[in-house]
Amino acid sequence: MHVSTLEKSPGVRTHEVTNQPPPLVDYNVFEADRVMVEAVKREGADWAVDRISAVGEVAGRVDVIELGRLANENPPKLRTHHRYGNRIDIPEFHPAWHDLMRLGISHELHSLPWREPQHGAHVARAAAFMCFSQAEAGVGCPISMTYSVVPALRKQPELAEEWEPRILSSVYDPRQIPAAEKQGSLFGMGMTEKQGGSDVRANTTVARPLNGGGPGAEYEITGHKWFFSAPQCDAFLVLAQAEGGISCFLMPRRLPDGELNRFRLQRLKDKLGNRSNASSEIEFDGARTHLVGEEGAGVRTIIEMVNHTRLDCASGSATGMRHGIAQAIHHASHRSTFGRVLVEQPLMQNVLADLAVESEAATTSVLRLARSYDEGLAGDDQAQAFKRIATAVLKYWICKRGPAHAVECLECLGGNGYVEESGMPRLYREAPLASIWEGSGNVQSLDVIRAMIKNPESIEAFAAEVGEGAVHEPRLDRFGRDLREDLVSDPETLEARARSLVERMALALQGSLLVRFGDEAVAEAFSASRLAGDWGQAFGTLPAGTDFQRIIDRHRAVA
Ligand SMILES: Cc1cc2nc3c(=O)[nH]c(=O)nc-3n(C[C@H](O)[C@H](O)[C@H](O)COP(=O)(O)OP(=O)(O)OC[C@H]3O[C@@H](n4cnc5c(N)ncnc54)[C@H](O)[C@@H]3O)c2cc1C
Repeated sequence: MHVSTLEKSPGVRTHEVTNQPPPLVDYNVFEADRVMVEAVKREGADWAVDRISAVGEVAGRVDVIELGRLANENPPKLRTHHRYGNRIDIPEFHPAWHDLMRLGISHELHSLPWREPQHGAHVARAAAFMCFSQAEAGVGCPISMTYSVVPALRKQPELAEEWEPRILSSVYDPRQIPAAEKQGSLFGMGMTEKQGGSDVRANTTVARPLNGGGPGAEYEITGHKWFFSAPQCDAFLVLAQAEGGISCFLMPRRLPDGELNRFRLQRLKDKLGNRSNASSEIEFDGARTHLVGEEGAGVRTIIEMVNHTRLDCASGSATGMRHGIAQAIHHASHRSTFGRVLVEQPLMQNVLADLAVESEAATTSVLRLARSYDEGLAGDDQAQAFKRIATAVLKYWICKRGPAHAVECLECLGGNGYVEESGMPRLYREAPLASIWEGSGNVQSLDVIRAMIKNPESIEAFAAEVGEGAVHEPRLDRFGRDLREDLVSDPETLEARARSLVERMALALQGSLLVRFGDEAVAEAFSASRLAGDWGQAFGTLPAGTDFQRIIDRHRAVA
């Protein structure tokens, strides 16, 4: 039954239902998000406002929200065999999944910056992706991998020439036929093995050249992957050991003659969240592939893809925060306790404002980061250096804040928040994932240290960006000076201190952006709490003088 019909059905005779909020549906999630609208314009994507708004309208529609619920409550099932015995090795999805994929692909969430490379294209795409993910995050996995594969694929031009037209197509084509016959193709990636995920150099899957080998040549691979998401995709970038070392291979799902490639899906993971999406275990038994880039350059090749998926992890977590705070403010604005609407209770105001500040810091910084992808592509070395380090800094911190933020938003809805129908449990279960995949928290922190040492220009570019805000805000200036001292002191303990340093780098960057571009009350609350330490260990501990009302009003989603 349609949700809005349910909402309107008459109450039973025992009592009248009162003091329960209406659902937050049928609103434009982009236009209702002032922080995002401002950031999109500031970071160079003002030309795309109408397109992002179209996605925002879709993502807020009651029927699309319902698709997200259905796709999660009906997770994919693995079908290994056709009824007459042939292997098919495919997850079978609920129709809601396909509807969501169709919407996402038709709005170019997987392709916009490659189809229309121009200033602000990555920002526009990130914003649209963030809006859409509020309806359902699971489809973001294959959409993000397909978006991210393009720069890695371009390392092998003839493969890029063959696959790109289908990747850039706006047609979602889930048919299981050879890719060459399809109207659109999706990509996945396979790095993680049983004995090690973060440490991909420990991969044991082996690749054997079929005709002499070399870039673009055919290899067969034998081994396994322990995590292999969206195995229904048309092709995958897979890491395996060749004679020259760990290398990157393009593995199509089906061979040109239509046969399934030589792999077996073992099972689908039974996951905490992200349940609409299929994550599998796979074994390769002489699977046919082509080498992408040089033998031994596997990590260097696939990292081009991983950088983009890391950007999406950060933007995905920022999305969760935005969704959570929008729901929390909405609920608190309609629910009364002890004679007052919740949103007017001073302590609830503190909680909501603190959550809103975190959300604004996340959205603002992630869209600033997306701009560096545009500028880096256009040949700006400073932007490239900033992107190198800021991706890891923000992937670490925004993703790390996600679960704590989600649980506090959930609590704002009281008991309703703990019940599936509210959507908050789904948000909560999804939240830890972005911090794990594409490099977990420690791996990101260590990557920041690596960037500082190997690419000193990256920390200089980062410091320059922070410095632009520090001239306006003495608390940021002091915070930045202390951080700089700690970054260069005691190199022996850098690794052990990595999380603490990277957290402070993220706060310095977010502070700098908010001081320059954020709302005045938000910037003041951020500086007082995150930079000057007038803050507790849970949300809702901002100083009492904070302009709570103004911050809450700014973050209210108006349906
Ligand atoms: C739902 C889901 C879907 C996934 N889909 C895919 C996919 O499609 N393709 C794919 O390739 N992978 C996928 N992954 C795998 C994911 O990328 C890995 O799980 C992740 O990179 C961590 O690797 P691991 O599980 O082997 O943990 P490990 O590498 O064993 O790490 C365990 C812990 O140790 C920490 N750690 C590691 N090294 C160090 C160090 N040097 N110092 C300090 N701490 C360290 C890590 O941060 C982590 O907290 C998926 C994972 C999940 C949960």
